[in-house]
Amino acid sequence: MKMHSLLPIGLLLVASGFAVAMKFGEKPDTPQLPGVEWVVHDGTRPQPKKVETSGVVSVAPPADAKVLIGADGSDAWTNESWKLVDGVMTVGKRPNRTKDSFGDIQMHVEWRVPADREVNGQSGGNSGIFFMGKYEVQVLACYENKTYPDGQAGAMYGQFPPLVNASAKKGEWNSYDIVFKAPRYEGEKAVEPAKLTVFHNGVLLHNAKEYYGPTQHKKLASYPDKHPESAPITLQDHNDPIQYRNMWVRELSDYDQQ
Ligand code: MG
Repeated sequence: MKMHSLLPIGLLLVASGFAVAMKFGEKPDTPQLPGVEWVVHDGTRPQPKKVETSGVVSVAPPADAKVLIGADGSDAWTNESWKLVDGVMTVGKRPNRTKDSFGDIQMHVEWRVPADREVNGQSGGNSGIFFMGKYEVQVLACYENKTYPDGQAGAMYGQFPPLVNASAKKGEWNSYDIVFKAPRYEGEKAVEPAKLTVFHNGVLLHNAKEYYGPTQHKKLASYPDKHPESAPITLQDHNDPIQYRNMWVRELSDYDQQ
């Protein structure tokens, strides 16, 4: 076979190589995850089962909660481009961090993707909640939209898909009820990983699931040598006008944890 006849095939392979990335149904060229047969952002990983719910579970802040987004307005945040109107905060430009730092917390939050928003995979309906600014719980329009399972709504991004897909439709509010436990260090060694429990619209997504390390994109997560005991919560700007309301936290370090 002459060289020139191979050329188009070679070009085709290169082109498809670029296309094989981070999509539903496709296996990207990313690192192997430990203990499972999948790679990071693996589009061939099974899609979590869809579970229809009655929608948002709204819980008013209990007496010992710190309100981060609420009806009375809030000065809890550092980024003024994220507007808070009538208790609803909309994603602005660049991430938004809390002024306060947090370690172990319980969080309640409600979020939605605008009804008229066009979404496609990770585009159009994407934000995220980063505990300690490092550990993401994904926020994404996922009622009909398909993406790689470790990137869908409620995923421990790039690590663990949610147990099920409990997403509400675009335009409808979702709730997350979350318990986050910070990693424990002895010197420069992580002796206990960060742990996450999440309920989405009242349905369990993660049960004290251990993070491999701080969230990464296309990389395998691992624990750094140095780690703060507490840090601000960060909300992600992914260029989509996701809305948040009724966000409050309870600081679990206030209580004896057995
Ligand atoms: Mg995100």
